[in-house]
Amino acid sequence: MSNKQPQIIILLGRSGCGKGTQAKLLMKEFSSDYLGSGALLRERSKQSDFTGKKLKQVMDKGDLVPTPVMFRLWADKIAKMREKVGKKGLIIDGSPRSLLEAKLMNSAFKWYEWDNVKVILLDISEQEAFSRLTNRRICKDCGRLIPWVGEFKDLKKCDKCGGELETRFDDKPEAIQARLDYYKKDVQPAVDYYEEQGRLIKVDGGQSIDNVYKEIIQCLLQ
Ligand SMILES: [Zn+2]
Repeated sequence: MSNKQPQIIILLGRSGCGKGTQAKLLMKEFSSDYLGSGALLRERSKQSDFTGKKLKQVMDKGDLVPTPVMFRLWADKIAKMREKVGKKGLIIDGSPRSLLEAKLMNSAFKWYEWDNVKVILLDISEQEAFSRLTNRRICKDCGRLIPWVGEFKDLKKCDKCGGELETRFDDKPEAIQARLDYYKKDVQPAVDYYEEQGRLIKVDGGQSIDNVYKEIIQCLLQ
């Protein structure tokens, strides 16, 4: 982390791999800013112009927002962040979703003179992802989402408020499978691209949250 350039970390992995959790931990560790595509889209969809309304429609259906629209929002945000991030780092979650987006992001970072980009793949198998997404639970009282991983599997009550836990399918199994198929078809080529560039850090996402985190930190400090 002693580089003059801010550390940019792109988190990749199948749904359920723990990207969001690790992003939060990394933000704390490095006082980084967060750039999540989901949050960008939700924010933009609150405006009542054509783009905002259409985004809301598409997201409500669970469809993907096409690259030109997504990338425009993303690039505008990067331009703004370029002004203020300074030496602070940036954690990127939810992009790229394809080889095309990975290439676009690459050239954007080059243009903004942000070269210190590392890509972390939280590697879990398709089977593990499916099991995590269908078994995770939610607290009836505070709404906390309890991941189906490591020591959390043994929780009987909410670890924050003591509330009762229930299994809740956010998505139907077919919808989960569709996301995993999408990963295989579109995201995997982006992962391969980063690997060819020597930027990819592969971490076994099947470990406990703590151990995944420790391994990420180790790899980043190398
Ligand atoms: Zn709770």
